[in-house]
Amino acid sequence: MHRIAAVVFVTLVGLAPAAAQPIVDVNGVAERLAQAIRFPTVSHQDPAAFEGAPFDGLIAHLALAYPRVHERLKVERVNGYSLLISWPGRDAKLDPALFMSHLDVVPVEEEALEGWTHPPFGGVIHDGFVWGRGSLDVKNGVIAWLEAAELLLAEGFVPERGLIFAFGHDEEIGGEAGAAELARTLRERGTRVSFLVDEGGMISGDLGLVPGKLVAQINTAEKTYFTIHLSATSEGGHSSTPPPHTAVGKLASAIHRLEANPLPLRISTPVRDLFAALAPHVPLGRRLALRNLWLTGGVLKRRMARDPFQAAMLRTTTAATMIHGGVKENVVPKRATATVNFRILPGETPDDVLAHVRKVIDDPEIEISSDTWSSAPRPGRVDAPGYAVLSEAIRSVHPDAVVVPGMLLGATDTRHFADIAADSYRFIGARISRDQITGIHGTDERIAIDALAEAVEIHRDILRRAGGLTGPN
Ligand SMILES: [Zn+2]
Repeated sequence: MHRIAAVVFVTLVGLAPAAAQPIVDVNGVAERLAQAIRFPTVSHQDPAAFEGAPFDGLIAHLALAYPRVHERLKVERVNGYSLLISWPGRDAKLDPALFMSHLDVVPVEEEALEGWTHPPFGGVIHDGFVWGRGSLDVKNGVIAWLEAAELLLAEGFVPERGLIFAFGHDEEIGGEAGAAELARTLRERGTRVSFLVDEGGMISGDLGLVPGKLVAQINTAEKTYFTIHLSATSEGGHSSTPPPHTAVGKLASAIHRLEANPLPLRISTPVRDLFAALAPHVPLGRRLALRNLWLTGGVLKRRMARDPFQAAMLRTTTAATMIHGGVKENVVPKRATATVNFRILPGETPDDVLAHVRKVIDDPEIEISSDTWSSAPRPGRVDAPGYAVLSEAIRSVHPDAVVVPGMLLGATDTRHFADIAADSYRFIGARISRDQITGIHGTDERIAIDALAEAVEIHRDILRRAGGLTGPN
């Protein structure tokens, strides 16, 4: 492996003295987030169930809450309900930096309602928290970026490099109507992005990466989501005179072969970067292991592979998730189908996975097809200006935080921008604890008000530093 020499040009332009910075209005931010939560901007799996009114309400709320952003920056609605906000830089030759989030949230199931301490769309502020669906995923991101921009406009900040905000409205169902259209709009205008920051990384003190320390994880990579379909056929007939293998049997055997032959364990670049960043902060034994992967890699991989979460960091995962076949117990089915979902490591492609599947199943009677897919962007560089902007902004608010790169196991909207962004990072400046994580897509989603205020501080610093980057893209 080789490393590109680190050449980071960070020139801070227009840095106002600390005393001149408007103070973050903690209660005001909490109220503006609470109000945003009260619009049930739900993405339903069935696109026909889409309702535009809550999105109209949310967009109107943002216009009232952030008057400077709406007066001085170019605010556009894209494909109806997504927002594209452009803050031109003084130097039009510099590629802008892009800050993403999404306006939609996942639904709350009827049965789950009674588990909520406060109504999920109530926007209740209580006990030092803002409660509700979207408080972590990810209206907090929308609010923190706009709050930060509003504060910077108030202090007269003018960026050298352009800043763009892109908030999609259907991230939770793939982003085809939102992020994909936002990306298309930028592409058509010939916009190239120096680096982008999307949701999907956070700050936590109790997730165990470095015990006793606040750890900020900037996810430089994510896995590619890829689904295949298997189909087996056989002569139908009466089950009293069956063929040696029915369609169900053939399919079961194919799935068994896939599970018995997982894709290989591999320490990909983002995980290697994570190990390198963690090494100085762990006890000596582990440090030596992390720093001498040429020697310890094999043992480390086998040990990590025992835990499903850690294994997912090291390989393209295989999950048989759906199976159908047969209509009656005494009828040999003519057809059986199965669905297998893969999450592909950076450095591997859907074509690699398909080749693996064909080789492992090795049965011409099993038909294999795949869904269309879009690959995750290539991993963002840790030795590039965008990463430095994020880590310095984090340290400006949390001087003792350990900043590490990482890989997200889920997928974000970033893939829609893969061809126009040089580097992609996933990070939100909100500090959250282990017991809050279950709230994401779950019950009692909530964010601490002080963590929200810190997020605004960090995001303001990110924008100021990104706007001040004057080196090459
Ligand atoms: Zn999200």
